[in-house]
Amino acid sequence: MTDLIKIKAFAFDVDGVFTDGGVLAIGNGDLLRTFNAKDSFAIRTAIINGFPVAIITGGCSESIASRFRTLNVPDADIYQLSKNKLPDLQHFCERHHFQLSEVMFCGDDVPDVPSIMEAGIGVCPKDACIEAIEAADIVSDKCGGHQFVRDIVERTLRAQGMWKFDPLQPWGFNYGDEITLSALKTGRNAE
Ligand SMILES: [Mg+2]
Repeated sequence: MTDLIKIKAFAFDVDGVFTDGGVLAIGNGDLLRTFNAKDSFAIRTAIINGFPVAIITGGCSESIASRFRTLNVPDADIYQLSKNKLPDLQHFCERHHFQLSEVMFCGDDVPDVPSIMEAGIGVCPKDACIEAIEAADIVSDKCGGHQFVRDIVERTLRAQGMWKFDPLQPWGFNYGDEITLSALKTGRNAE
């Protein structure tokens, strides 16, 4: 059993992880992506419980930044146009004073393999490329974009006793009232 207890931070690729890999190319060059609200809830829950979350993608889109800002991921932890993901993962760890061994990295394709191998726990969805599957410590039984992120974040937080909610509090969270209430006041986090 891979030791989920040791994980103190998460890092994620985007396409094929939060999404099924599909993009809708529209006339102005933007790419539209579909995210899963259950994945979003898991990210918000992880952050409220004190886990730094990094987004490390080779893509670049204002919609990616705005999506993760809405989930309370700081801009500094959103790495777009990442040419080589492992140095960006190391940079994230250094800024937050974690060891690579304490971070979970989730990716689905060849550019993610070095980070999957070097992170404390490397994870991929079941529809990842064969190289990622062979490198991963955990292969989820969920596909990218189909609650893969929810699966692995929920499993990790449950292992650490942090998947707990108070139904009488806003959004059912026990923790992070400041973040939660400020999000409510600004009308964000409408999911
Ligand atoms: Mg990908």
